[in-house]
Amino acid sequence: MELKKGRNADYLMQANRSLVLQILARNNICTRARIAEETGLKQATITNIITEMIQLGVVREVGIVEGKRGRRSIGIELAAEKIEVIAVKLGHVSYSIGLFDLKGTMIEHQEERFRAEEEQNPACALRKIKERIWELLKREGNKIHAVGIAVPGPFLRKPGRIALMTQFPGWDKLDLNEEFLKEFPVPVFIEHGANAGALAEWRYGKYRRNQGCLVNFLAGEGVGAGIVVDGEIFAGSRGIAGEIGHISLDINGEKCDCGNRGCMELYCSALSLVKHTMEELPKYPQSSLNKLESIRYFDIFNGAEAGDALCLEMVKQAGFYMGCGIAAVINIYDPDVVIISDAMSKGGALLLEEVKKTVKERIIDVLYENITIDYTDFSVNQILYGAAVVAIDRLLSNMNMLISTP
Ligand SMILES: [Zn+2]
Repeated sequence: MELKKGRNADYLMQANRSLVLQILARNNICTRARIAEETGLKQATITNIITEMIQLGVVREVGIVEGKRGRRSIGIELAAEKIEVIAVKLGHVSYSIGLFDLKGTMIEHQEERFRAEEEQNPACALRKIKERIWELLKREGNKIHAVGIAVPGPFLRKPGRIALMTQFPGWDKLDLNEEFLKEFPVPVFIEHGANAGALAEWRYGKYRRNQGCLVNFLAGEGVGAGIVVDGEIFAGSRGIAGEIGHISLDINGEKCDCGNRGCMELYCSALSLVKHTMEELPKYPQSSLNKLESIRYFDIFNGAEAGDALCLEMVKQAGFYMGCGIAAVINIYDPDVVIISDAMSKGGALLLEEVKKTVKERIIDVLYENITIDYTDFSVNQILYGAAVVAIDRLLSNMNMLISTP
């Protein structure tokens, strides 16, 4: 067993610097007094840290601000525009890449579909992504200090491997740590997409927080969750703690690819919504869906909005199962906030009401009263932002990384 090591003075210095950086990253302009108050550190310690950071060009002084009781002091801010990170989101058929500054402001981004040969050959897709990263590194020079990459899961952290990528075999053979970590002159951090998305919600979402527990409940093609506790991702032993989509909602239900039966994602993912709706369609000759050549999840949401009986029924059913799933997740993690994201977050008021009603019926009252359940307010790009936060967090927690030039 590996024991925790004792903490020496260097460690403490590093931790204090990191605290200061995180406060500066969360606020626009701060004073030394306020940082001292928020960190609980002595003014003299803060003065030393800030002086060092100013010399290194990481922070700067910006005029006079009025503090408590009208006291005027010098304002300090992060020189966020001087430090950038690259964020990448790897998807099944496409990838996104973006450039962010140290405060998480998106400077630019683009999404690109993989060409047919790239889709079939993950090594080709990987080469394309590496080329794009290199292009940005060359163009931005030493402004870029880290790369964050969000990958679909289940993602095993240690071998750096996606354990299963449904419908796109081959990815599970690639060692992503090996592929990415040594390729570039800056540090690269790889994280499961659901976890990265949870960090984005924690830092920039509608229910952003400084403490407590937030669950990012992703319901798209599959179902998964990212969990953040007091600002840190809860990833479990191997990195797959949030694979809640494979919790059984029906122990005798349909067989799932994972080996289990009646898994949550067979009932409340966008894929299952489409599948179940198509199974029911013959019973509803009046349904507007009969006019469509192929049915996609948003056709069902639109149909429900327009009052189509089949669509209403299917959205309610998905909401019921999602509510059962979220109730289970609440009992495991005891979160303050559950954010529903990905395709099913477009389900509108009807779906959300059904989810909340079911959760209320299935957990103890005191839990329900203290939990917020809502859709994400990132329309898209939650996970891309998350990939940026993964990289930014690491820079903020290690000032040596912040000041080293590639
Ligand atoms: Zn399963």
